[in-house]
Amino acid sequence: MQFSRRSMFKLSAAGLTTLAAPQILVRAAQAEVPMSATMPAAYKRFSLGDFEITVLSDGHRVVPDPQKIFGTNQTQEEIAALLESNYLPVDKMQFTFAPTLVNTGSDLILFDTGNGEGGREGGVGQTLANLQASGYTPEQVTVVVLTHLHGDHIGGLMEGDQPAFPNARYVTGQAEYDFWSSEERIGTGAENGHKGVVAKVVPLAEKMSFVKDGDSVVSGITGMAAFGHTPGHMIYGLESGGRKLMLTADTANHFVLSLQRPEWEVVFDSDKAMAAKTRKDVFDMISADRLPFIGYHMPFPSVGFVEKASEGYRFIPETYQFDL
Ligand SMILES: [Zn+2]
Repeated sequence: MQFSRRSMFKLSAAGLTTLAAPQILVRAAQAEVPMSATMPAAYKRFSLGDFEITVLSDGHRVVPDPQKIFGTNQTQEEIAALLESNYLPVDKMQFTFAPTLVNTGSDLILFDTGNGEGGREGGVGQTLANLQASGYTPEQVTVVVLTHLHGDHIGGLMEGDQPAFPNARYVTGQAEYDFWSSEERIGTGAENGHKGVVAKVVPLAEKMSFVKDGDSVVSGITGMAAFGHTPGHMIYGLESGGRKLMLTADTANHFVLSLQRPEWEVVFDSDKAMAAKTRKDVFDMISADRLPFIGYHMPFPSVGFVEKASEGYRFIPETYQFDL
């Protein structure tokens, strides 16, 4: 059958004539029913060897002007062309956030905590609600790992003036903690970040252990230095039952702009050249080894693979690879 644009329009014109009466009835009925603004619980669960992985959505946020965030060393035309070729709008973008729970059988480990209560009016800060919807309680979390100390990762540590995960110990990178907690940040561009860390992270320092490249959180979960996005940004390799997965945190902040063009500068990266080199090193390794990864800002459920392309990488979202 020929399916030209013309035949499609003819089809819909014919459809309108024959179905006009029922459509009017349906529209009238729908007008009686207000649209539901309720969002579904959002989590994705799969297994990796003996580990159970649950990716939690912290919600999403729409921000204007992608070109002011990604590709700040590129022309507006180049950025618009890349977005358009990937069927994305050029004037706004969506940010998602994906804290991840790993149940090893003896520990329930939460990687990053989302935007927290401060983000809830803006539609984010949903990690706690989705953790509960997924069948766990905050009291069951035994370890909270902070990949780095930006606000969208530490915002959920406290609820009011109480720790949100009262029975947890904490893990973060030594270099990351030293940088943000230092009073030397006062009067610099990192002052606001420092204040956030003083408010949310420093009060928990007594229960915190600090890791370096190659250190383990628990058996099967190993930290890797991936500096550049922040001075002490760490990523984590998971391995269980012969299967592996990487938690790449903010090594790449967008599935098109950061992966297809890893060298493009990103406003959020504190050392732009180091961040670009780390991006290429990490995703070269992940693509060569065909490893699945969870990227904190990849489109929810934030799990996928990358394939090396002539320039950068192509993101391949997870479909049913973990279900079979
Ligand atoms: Zn982030």
